[in-house]
Amino acid sequence: MMTDDGHEDLHRTMGPVYSLEVSGASAGPTCAQHGEFCFLCNFSASEDQDDPWSDIIDVIGALAEENKEIATIVKIVHQNYEQNVRPTLSYTDAAAGITIEHPEWSKDAIRRHIVFTSTQWPSLFSNVCENIFVSMIALQSKHVKDMDTEDVDEERRKALVDTMMKYSQFQRNRASTFHLSKNTKQASSRI
Ligand SMILES: [Zn+2]
Repeated sequence: MMTDDGHEDLHRTMGPVYSLEVSGASAGPTCAQHGEFCFLCNFSASEDQDDPWSDIIDVIGALAEENKEIATIVKIVHQNYEQNVRPTLSYTDAAAGITIEHPEWSKDAIRRHIVFTSTQWPSLFSNVCENIFVSMIALQSKHVKDMDTEDVDEERRKALVDTMMKYSQFQRNRASTFHLSKNTKQASSRI
């Protein structure tokens, strides 16, 4: 919004075009920037036949491969943790000198881990960027025409076309990146 004297109003309340927040505001995107418990950060794979950590990694990997939305993946991982892991889990925070029985792994914490903390599933962050582009284009395209005069607003048209062109570039880069990363994954899994 512009003020009467033509300057941009710096006191606007701005919001996300594609929200990843399950609830509340966050201090930063990764697990380390939050005090919340994260199962994947605080535990690791075990040799046991029953290895819930690896099971959850496999679930996320399979869903990422299917290009499921982040919200869907978070919901499924949360259900899996609640049913199969939390009831028998005990977590000792050595720094704080406390043990927490059945720690809560919130949906916010799961989302932070899979999208921003782990680099294991780069396609998930790429999906977020994709959704930002799509949401931005949908939003910008709603406000291009002057409804009284029926004229196309030149400035808004340029902004919309610019986003569409950047989106097209992003898609091309994404296609080549994920072609490369699939090869990398296959090569490293043979080692
Ligand atoms: Zn984490």
